[in-house]
Amino acid sequence: MEPCPLNIAYGEDVFNEKAMREYLAKDTVETLLHTMNDRAPLDPSIANEVAHALKQWAMQRGATHFTHWFQPLTGTTAEKHDAFFEPVGTAETIARFSGKNLIMGEPDASSFPSGGLRCTFEARGYTAWDVTSPAFVKRHANGATLCIPTVFCSYTGEVLDKKTPLLRSMQAMDRAVRKLMACFGEPDGHAVITLGAEQEYFLVDKALYLKRPDLMQCGRTLFGAPPARNQQLEDHYFGSIKPRVLTFMEEVEQELWRLGIPAKTRHNEAAPAQFELAPMFEELNLAVDHNMLVMETLRNVADRHGLVCLLHEKPFAGVNGSGKHNNWSVAYNGKNLLDPGKNPQDNAIFLSVLASVIRAIDLHADVLRASTAHFGNDHRLGALEAPPAIISIFLGDELTEVIQHIEQGEAMEGNGKRGKLRVGVDTLPPIPRDTSDRNRTSPFAFTGNKFEFRAPGSSQNCSGVCMVLNTIVADSINFIADAIAQLPKDAFHEGLEAILQRIIREHSRVIFNGDGYSAAWVEEAQKRGLPNLRTVPEALAVLLTEKNLNLFSKQGVLHPTEMRSRYDVFFAEYARKVRLEGKVALETARTILEPAVISELGVLAKKLHYTQTVGLTAGVKTLTNKATIIGAGLDELSTGCATLECALTADEQAILSAMTALRTTADQLETIIGDEHWPLPKYRDLLQIH
Ligand code: ADP
Ligand code: MG
Repeated sequence: MEPCPLNIAYGEDVFNEKAMREYLAKDTVETLLHTMNDRAPLDPSIANEVAHALKQWAMQRGATHFTHWFQPLTGTTAEKHDAFFEPVGTAETIARFSGKNLIMGEPDASSFPSGGLRCTFEARGYTAWDVTSPAFVKRHANGATLCIPTVFCSYTGEVLDKKTPLLRSMQAMDRAVRKLMACFGEPDGHAVITLGAEQEYFLVDKALYLKRPDLMQCGRTLFGAPPARNQQLEDHYFGSIKPRVLTFMEEVEQELWRLGIPAKTRHNEAAPAQFELAPMFEELNLAVDHNMLVMETLRNVADRHGLVCLLHEKPFAGVNGSGKHNNWSVAYNGKNLLDPGKNPQDNAIFLSVLASVIRAIDLHADVLRASTAHFGNDHRLGALEAPPAIISIFLGDELTEVIQHIEQGEAMEGNGKRGKLRVGVDTLPPIPRDTSDRNRTSPFAFTGNKFEFRAPGSSQNCSGVCMVLNTIVADSINFIADAIAQLPKDAFHEGLEAILQRIIREHSRVIFNGDGYSAAWVEEAQKRGLPNLRTVPEALAVLLTEKNLNLFSKQGVLHPTEMRSRYDVFFAEYARKVRLEGKVALETARTILEPAVISELGVLAKKLHYTQTVGLTAGVKTLTNKATIIGAGLDELSTGCATLECALTADEQAILSAMTALRTTADQLETIIGDEHWPLPKYRDLLQIH
């Protein structure tokens, strides 16, 4: 490999293998690597030595504090810093960081949502080191903090975070894949789930942002008429990146590279002021942690550049929203199982995993959709270049043809040959790795050697989404493996073919290669019996069905009490967000917009009065008309405020409808009120970065 020509401090702030070898004894390094790579239990006897080394290493990078870095159910990351320094005697300190500090922490984190898993009198949760994700140092203006990735549980062992179920779901996949691979006579090994999370975001100028209480408090605009020029010219996507934005991106990348985060691709997205950052894929747990750091870094660096990074799924109505494409795959002993491969054995394994995914998505489309249930995403899914809330799979023409032939058990024309495709004996025709013309309207697309799940929202933690994906696929891989295990040796391939055929016949309704944006698909999907869960409450409700409670408990990922607590937490979060937005909309309309309309009306009335007083007739009609329209708009605005105020004492649906009506009135007024009187920065300015 060529050395990197740039002077990049790649991975400098990660306690990686190189750092371990520098700071730890050889035996300790081996023990620690064994724990990290083979997911072996941590040997407590090395904890003190590792802690000491970590402290030395971090202090050399300017760290004064350490924190257990965890991912509570709020969907963000949490940290409570403790200084390394402990006083000894008078006015003296020593730096101390013990094995105990490293392995376990007790943040008094009683304010994090637990969905009733903890009562306040026993509110303490504890954090425990997740050895599979390396420690790192976060630098800030005046120092640095050693971050130890951890899981967060209650004292009675229930999970309170997003990471623990993710790790459990990876174990479920590992068990299932190993079982399947044994059926194919593959050597024992490990399954590694891989994730490449493409992150979309908007940038807005900070000075304008500070004049928008809606953006500041809700992360999205609650008012705003679309500008004449939005994205219709399609000139932003992949366009040349403005110097100010490029400088920002370069700084983001440098920070990420220091943290060993392989940020690779950067480009303008479809909407004006929208961008994307895509890293190289990594092992799932690490990729999730890294995506959390990507979001944090984007926000922090933007701030230093007089910009604000909006990670909300739909900051602006009428232009594209932001998603987070989760590129997901599974490898075994270093081989990607979703790569069709070049020989019949690899093809057979590929088809078995593919059939498992098809079965999983068909049986559990509801809970997969629920994993993307997030208030911001409700505004995005099904609108402007975002997949609909209906979960379906896109396979592409070539693979669909293969699948159809297995389904029908008929002759096929693949590779230019006629004849029946015999699974495990014949070689599959080449399946292209689509990069250009693949179907962007599909929520779950096969892209040649991985699936790209496009429904997740840009601000979501990938762990919930991938945890569900792992769990449902593990369940189906187990199902297939159990069936294959029954096959007689001498009829293995015929038997396998029959199993695949049965699965495809039962579940191919979830495959859809057409236009996911079209109204016809909504109708067709309904005919096929596919769920269309349009809103967060509809989607979350499926977490509580007997079927899903059993599934997660059977796979050892979430106990029914943990599932119920998650439902409670997510629903409460949704309800709180709706109410908050309702209040902000009301306050903004009453205290900012209404006064502006009144003053415009006042100015017009005065001008009309003068005009008439001096005996002019020309212009009177226009002034009268305009004043009448604005006056009517003012009345409507005021009625809209009253309705919203009333709705705020009712349910979420009432609040949302009242907000929509109020917005329609306000946005119409925005298009007729004079620019100098309109108090909020407009879309045309917000969506431009100079
Ligand atoms: P796009 O055209 O969507 O940008 P890319 O081929 O560049 O497609 O891949 C997008 C993302 O998919 C990247 O983050 C890439 O690293 C990731 N990716 C590629 N292969 C895998 C894999 N086997 N597992 C998970 N993610 C993968
Ligand atoms: Mg993509």
